[in-house]
Amino acid sequence: MIIDAHNHVLAAGLYPGYERFIKEMTMGYFQSHGSLPEDRDPGDEDWKGLEYLWEPIDPDTLIRDHAGVGVDKCTILAVAPSEYTRYESRGTVDIAGVTGVEGPPSIDKGNDYIAALVAKYPETFIGMSAVNPKFRGVKAAVAELERAITKLQLTGLKLYPMYDHWAPNDRDLAFPIFAKAAELDIPVMVHLSTTPVGDTVLLYGWPVLLDDVARAFPNLRLLVCHAGHPWVDECLVLISRHRNVYLDMSFLNSTLDQRETYGFLRRARQLGCPLSRVCWATDYPGFEFPETLLPKLALVNRAAGDDPLVPQADIARMLGGNYARFLGMDWSQEETLEQMRGLEEKWTGILTGRKTNPPPARPHHTC
Ligand SMILES: [Zn+2]
Repeated sequence: MIIDAHNHVLAAGLYPGYERFIKEMTMGYFQSHGSLPEDRDPGDEDWKGLEYLWEPIDPDTLIRDHAGVGVDKCTILAVAPSEYTRYESRGTVDIAGVTGVEGPPSIDKGNDYIAALVAKYPETFIGMSAVNPKFRGVKAAVAELERAITKLQLTGLKLYPMYDHWAPNDRDLAFPIFAKAAELDIPVMVHLSTTPVGDTVLLYGWPVLLDDVARAFPNLRLLVCHAGHPWVDECLVLISRHRNVYLDMSFLNSTLDQRETYGFLRRARQLGCPLSRVCWATDYPGFEFPETLLPKLALVNRAAGDDPLVPQADIARMLGGNYARFLGMDWSQEETLEQMRGLEEKWTGILTGRKTNPPPARPHHTC
C-alpha cells in the first residue's frame, strides 16, 4: 500500500481572503518563472488564466491524480479556522457544495467537511482535523479537537502555528492541545517550514521549536511537515533526538531533483535520522504533482551513481509503512514491494518522458 501523507482539498478560506492568500502563495514562483511581471505588483490583468489556482480543490480529481500513478490512500488535511489575519475568513470550506454538509459555507465546519469526505471515500481518504487556539480560545480548540476525534471519527490532528500566529512551544496556547492529543492517543502533524504568504510568523515555522513539545510529551506521535524546509538539517537532528517524531517530505521534494533526493536521504542517515521515520507525501496540488513526485522517490536509486543503493525495503516503508506506523495502521511490506515491481515500468515511462516533455507547473501550495 502506497500512502500520500499530505494533501489539500476543497477551499482554504472564503473569498476575497482566499484569493489574496493564494496569490501571495504563488506570486514569487510565477515571477521567477516569467509568468508574472517582476518589476511591479501584478494586477488583475496579469493574473488572467491563473484563476484555477483559487478554485476549490475537487476530491474526485484528487483521487484520480493519485490512483493513476499507483497511490492507494491519501491523507486529507483540514485547515484551521482563523479570522484575524489579512486573509480574513480562513479555514477549510466547501464552497462548491460537494460534501453534503448542510448550511452555508463556514470555517466553523472545517472538520465536518473533512469527516464527510472520509465517510464518502473510506477506502481512500484518511482525515486529519485542525484546530487553532487563537480562534475562539484554547478551551474551545481543545473541545473541538475532542469532538473531531470522538464524534467525527477523524484520525489525527494537523496544526498551522506560523499561519495562525502562535508558537508551537507556547505553554499556554499550544501545550493544552498537545496534552489533549496525547490523552486521545492520536498522531499530530505540524506545519514547520516556511511559506511565501506574508501575514505569517516565520520564526514559528522553525522545527527546533518542536523539541520542547517532544520532550514534554515523549509518547505523543509528532510529524514535521515539509521536512522543516528550508531548515532541513534542524528537522533531521530533531528527529534523531526523539523516537516518536516523523517527517513528511512534501514541498521539499518539489524543490529537489532525483539526485538531490538521494542526497537528502543520505544526509538524513548522516545526521542520525533513520529512514524509518521519513514519509513520502506531495502537498497536493502543490508545486509538483504525484505523477512525477512518486517515481522520483520510488526509483531514487537510478540517481545513486557509484554510491550505495537505498534498500528497496526502506523505499517501500517511506512510500507507506512509516506513515502507517505513525497512524497506528496495518501495512504490508511484502505486498508493497510486489506493488512497486508492478508499477516500475509505468514510473520509468514517466521519468523518461519528463526529460523531453516536462508536465505543466501548477503551483497551488496551500500549507
Ligand atoms: Zn500542505
